[in-house]
Amino acid sequence: MRISEFVEAAKKGNINIIEHTKKALKEAEKINEEYHYITAWADVEQQAEQLQKRQEEGNATGKLFGVLISVKDDMCVKGIESCASSAILKGYKPLFNATAVERCIREGAIILGKTVQDEFGFGTFGDKAGIGYKKPKNPVNKKHFPGGSSSGAGGLTKLADFPHLSLAESTGGSTAAPASFCGVIGITPTYGRVSRYGLIDYANSMDKICTMARTVEDAALLLEIISGQDEHDSTSAPEKVPQLTDIPANVNGIKIGIIKEAFEGADNHVRKQVLDAVYQLEQKGARKIEISLPITMKYGLAAYYVLAMCEASTNLAKYCGMRYGQHEKLSGNYNEYFSRVRTQYFGEEVKRRILLGTFARMAGYRDAFYTKAAQVRTKIIEEYNNVFSQVDVIITPTMPITAPTAEEVKKLTPLQHYLMDVITAPINLAGLPHINVPCGQHNEMPIGMLITGKHFAEAKIIQVAKAVENNE
Ligand code: GLN
Repeated sequence: MRISEFVEAAKKGNINIIEHTKKALKEAEKINEEYHYITAWADVEQQAEQLQKRQEEGNATGKLFGVLISVKDDMCVKGIESCASSAILKGYKPLFNATAVERCIREGAIILGKTVQDEFGFGTFGDKAGIGYKKPKNPVNKKHFPGGSSSGAGGLTKLADFPHLSLAESTGGSTAAPASFCGVIGITPTYGRVSRYGLIDYANSMDKICTMARTVEDAALLLEIISGQDEHDSTSAPEKVPQLTDIPANVNGIKIGIIKEAFEGADNHVRKQVLDAVYQLEQKGARKIEISLPITMKYGLAAYYVLAMCEASTNLAKYCGMRYGQHEKLSGNYNEYFSRVRTQYFGEEVKRRILLGTFARMAGYRDAFYTKAAQVRTKIIEEYNNVFSQVDVIITPTMPITAPTAEEVKKLTPLQHYLMDVITAPINLAGLPHINVPCGQHNEMPIGMLITGKHFAEAKIIQVAKAVENNE
């Protein structure tokens, strides 16, 4: 059932919200026992009771009336532990809702709970949730990881059979990667399209709140609701939000840019299935154009990681055992105390990024790393803007591989790990909207196609994604 159909039925009273919600909660709990997607539950039944009452009073309104929404752990939900899956924030219960969450509630949504992620968003596979968190599993095959950092969002979206949508987040690919590895739709909007108010920062100049669903239409519906300027976030964009729902799946005359290098680096089965899906779009009237993004493909990943780590190391400085996050008994001098708290509560990857990010910002190195990366970023944005004067969208594989197993991930060095973001990091660095659409599988593991558009062209990527969705 489409989300909008469910909402209509719920508003009319054809669905008992309380009973429906209780059943859905049981199902979610069962999924969670096996797959470890939820870090904290909201009071689901109380929200359902309120909605049921509203319905009975003839006051059932909103585009998400009665729909369960899960929220990535890095978004603030009032009264519910919101920790970005880090031990250092354990126990933190925000006093307010993130704007995206608030907009869902205003449309009648029921908040289900918080979904697990790689700690502070630092990861690609879902293997890096903080100390004390259980590792999430791939919904298709438990031996594999679900992708990250929005791991719980991807896995739950795949497995929840009740009407459900998920708020995810991407800094450098954290929505596209798990959507690809789990076989669901993930939309990352243009930077600034959705307010970041209430989002626990990773890298402020790149963080974007995103949506996940089983269908393009449902992910687009959620995006339409959370988009638009917000007085609480001065980087939220004033651009008018176009209609993102009910867009026809028409690709006739659409020009698709194909980056050769992005396909060459992918595994054979990934390359083949994404190209097959492109071929099907050509049969429907789309035109393929080979494009080249030399600066982006060569330097995008490196520039992304330098900037992301610089910003992250600044953002994490506040977790020093004094005002934010965990405290300990005060002893020793400030440096000793600070180091003790951070050693104990931050995971290994977080420490690595703090060290690298701090190094790249230090006087004497700043010009060589941070400033250089920022300059490269500008060049990359220019390169994309040029390409978008020739094509409507760019299509690539989302990830070069299918979801890896725990053993496979263990063998990767940190650098090999970062290299998996070679396609997703640069488009995030440039702030471009993109959508993952499942387009096949290999040994049962899903393969995803990535459709990228120019800034604020969410409607266009949704249009093409719908045609891919209808391919079979
Ligand atoms: N894998 C990338 C990183 O680790 C992207 C993560 C994200 O988008 N939060 O930085």
